[in-house]
Amino acid sequence: MKNGTTAAVERLRRDRNAVILAHSYQPPEIQDIADHVGDSLELSRIAAATDASVIILCGVRFMAETAHILAPGKTVILPEPDAGCPLADCIEVPALKTMQEMYPEALTVLYVNSPASVKAESYACCTSANALRVVEAVPSREVIFAPDRNLGTFVSRHTGKRVHIWNGACRSHAAADLREMRARMEEWPDAQLLVHPETPPEAWELADEVLGTGGMIRHVASSSCARFLIGTEEGMVYRLRTLFPDREFMAAGLIYCENMKKITLQKVLRSLETLGPRVEVDPEVRRRAYESVARMTEVSG
Ligand code: SF4
Repeated sequence: MKNGTTAAVERLRRDRNAVILAHSYQPPEIQDIADHVGDSLELSRIAAATDASVIILCGVRFMAETAHILAPGKTVILPEPDAGCPLADCIEVPALKTMQEMYPEALTVLYVNSPASVKAESYACCTSANALRVVEAVPSREVIFAPDRNLGTFVSRHTGKRVHIWNGACRSHAAADLREMRARMEEWPDAQLLVHPETPPEAWELADEVLGTGGMIRHVASSSCARFLIGTEEGMVYRLRTLFPDREFMAAGLIYCENMKKITLQKVLRSLETLGPRVEVDPEVRRRAYESVARMTEVSG
């Protein structure tokens, strides 16, 4: 039986013509009430295409900004305004411009985990699902990749292009504990280890596959393996257990994003009641960021 908050969310969602989008790192109760759960690329595409008037973005700030860049006519709401992303916050426009002056032949490919103002200075955005394909697609032999150094390193190892990498990191993924990973591998020796490219390269050496969250779902769907160790934010374990109840999943060590967990059912309900807090990108920034974000959505994951 549904509790009162869930029932109220469902009623208001219909009344407001709202769509609830949740990232795969969201808490279980948010994934359960969402209309769509997905990675940044999937959520961006849905935001761009939805008929809903209101987008409740259950994730972190840069995701809500990206939704507003793609769908400026919609009301975009981030239920917790303090849900930021330390990786996105590690890059600012002046420092990127300095790097662009150092490498004038390079086009800038920006991980979507970045502020809207910085997106406006980039050629193309990407997610972990399509980073390599975006880098391959940009019309230059030289690329600046920012702000995640681990994803940039992963891309540079798989492309023939010269890649200049920004020195930022997701502190949740970068702190992945390799000893814990090895311990889980001993516990489940028959399992495949899937790790996210935001984890350190040493984790990739242990892994069977290095994949973004969408890639992990596709890999499990096409694999005959019964057990998987998951080396990304722990919310993804819940997502995979929901999608594949016939398989077993265990976190390959604790990777936890406190910002992703700031969204609660109560805050979603409050957002539907008040239609706030809204996220709006400055129109001039939006205009300049749009091309870059649109290029991201055009490249497959
Ligand atoms: Fe940012 Fe890392 Fe949290 Fe993703 S998991 S939102 S990159 S801090």
